[in-house]
Amino acid sequence: MVADFQNRGKLPVCALVSGSIFMRDDFTEEVKRILASRVGYLCSNPDCRARTSGPQIDATKALNVGVAAHITSAAEGGPRHNPLLSPEERRHPDNGIWLCQNCAKLIDNDTSRYTEKLIRAWREIAEDHALTLIGKTATRESNPAAESESQRKLRAVFPWIGRTVKLSQMTTGKAVYMVGPVMGSSYAQLLDCTEFYVTVGTTGSGAWSRSVSLSNIEISFDNQQRCLELQEYHR
Ligand SMILES: [Zn+2]
Repeated sequence: MVADFQNRGKLPVCALVSGSIFMRDDFTEEVKRILASRVGYLCSNPDCRARTSGPQIDATKALNVGVAAHITSAAEGGPRHNPLLSPEERRHPDNGIWLCQNCAKLIDNDTSRYTEKLIRAWREIAEDHALTLIGKTATRESNPAAESESQRKLRAVFPWIGRTVKLSQMTTGKAVYMVGPVMGSSYAQLLDCTEFYVTVGTTGSGAWSRSVSLSNIEISFDNQQRCLELQEYHR
């Protein structure tokens, strides 16, 4: 589709789109570097945050899998094109966002979902995120990606200690087709939770309690009683 790879970085570059020639207002290498640095070389999609740079085997080289994507397209006929922008505005850092290759494709494939407004919000959040991480030691708190599955569950369950939660027994395997996904549900008090297990039950007369391994629990939310739902899988 793009006719001219040799002259990348020298502006402007022509692009062949569906047989018509449009002028592309591509970013300079300097603008690309600025966009990447402003978000710490992480993808700006808040649901992704993939690292886009790393070492190559050759010690003098670094790998880059990031893309300086245009928020409004570099050429006429492209995604989210804004004809009111001048070529300078189109290749200005303000019109760019740093993404991984997957997310760069994603935003251009579905422009009704990935609007200019949404992408600008992504960029703002990503830059804010990068700012709060500058100079900080990589702890689990500052890097949610480092959080383990059980820690994620503990974080969701912990605020519910002492409150009523729903406990659902989930079916697995072929039983799902016979009795549906939920075997039975009951409400109980959440008594305790650690990284390893969660304890539910009642207090007072006739008190009972039961502990379930966190690895057998999926976290959901019960819209009926507006409370946490613990879905217990028997695997
Ligand atoms: Zn991404």
